Amino acid sequence: MHKSIFYLFLLSLVGFSTSCDNKGKKMDDPKDDRIIIEIPNMVEDSVYSFVEQQVAFGPRVPGSKAHKACAEWLENKFKSYGAKTTMQKFEANFHFGAKAEAINIIASIKPELPKRVLLCAHWDSRYTADEDKQRTDEAIPGADDGGSGVAVLLEMARLIQQYPLEMGVDIILFDAEDQGNNEVTESWCLGSQYWAKNTHVNNYRAKYGILLDMVGSKGARFVKENTSMAFAPSTMNKVWAEAKELGYENYFIDEESEGVVDDHYFINTLLNGSIPTIDIINRPKNSRFGKYWHTHDDNMDIIDKKTLGAVGNVVMSVLYNESVGTF
Ligand SMILES: [Zn+2]
Repeated sequence: MHKSIFYLFLLSLVGFSTSCDNKGKKMDDPKDDRIIIEIPNMVEDSVYSFVEQQVAFGPRVPGSKAHKACAEWLENKFKSYGAKTTMQKFEANFHFGAKAEAINIIASIKPELPKRVLLCAHWDSRYTADEDKQRTDEAIPGADDGGSGVAVLLEMARLIQQYPLEMGVDIILFDAEDQGNNEVTESWCLGSQYWAKNTHVNNYRAKYGILLDMVGSKGARFVKENTSMAFAPSTMNKVWAEAKELGYENYFIDEESEGVVDDHYFINTLLNGSIPTIDIINRPKNSRFGKYWHTHDDNMDIIDKKTLGAVGNVVMSVLYNESVGTF
């Protein structure tokens, strides 16, 4: 066993999409007692196509055909990457009176290992374009709001299968996050509320959690959101430091912003902070969540594969560092 001094080298800091030949293995260098870990880079075309494929189903509104078909597709994708999947079904009662069967899609990588990190996103798309000026009663495409976070997590699962990680990871795609009403906090995030009260494993534990929401738009701006800072300040600061290290400080801005109600809010509050969870979410300067937010403009035109790649590379770096104790 070597000394516990670790140095991390992220290969090919330029040209992420040409990095398919990286070896994701840990190597010992006997000369200087260093352990070098190689971290696979996101393949931008792959992660982009995962957004496209979700959008192609149509809006993934609980109870719709598109929702059902997309759930099957997601389950099969995770299975094909060797993860153990759990389809956690529950009845979602929406604030506007409707109810539908909703599904939290859970993919566990190395479920036998006690050391785990939780990664999550919501996979449903909003039933109404209430921030739009037209067709407000129609559902939104949800390319960024829903699609982007899921796509990054799918790509991560794909790469982790190729370059195994000596740590457990649980990927949870929460359902029924985005069907709420601004007046009632509990009308949002029905999937994470359900999961926090009914974790898929008894006494589920993870060291921390990272939620991805709206992580794929051009010029996205991720700031240190206050709910995350209240519950998970050290994880937040370390993730932002990692992003800076990788040269992504143009996306990950060292600045705090007001707290938002998102799935991490319920994971943190309902589990009494036992899985400190942060939210990586786009907070543009001059609008709440981007001009396209909850409108029909949340489509492929606003998606930038560079943003998807940046977020994925930061979270991959966190995981591979965590696995060898250097995060
Ligand atoms: Zn939304």
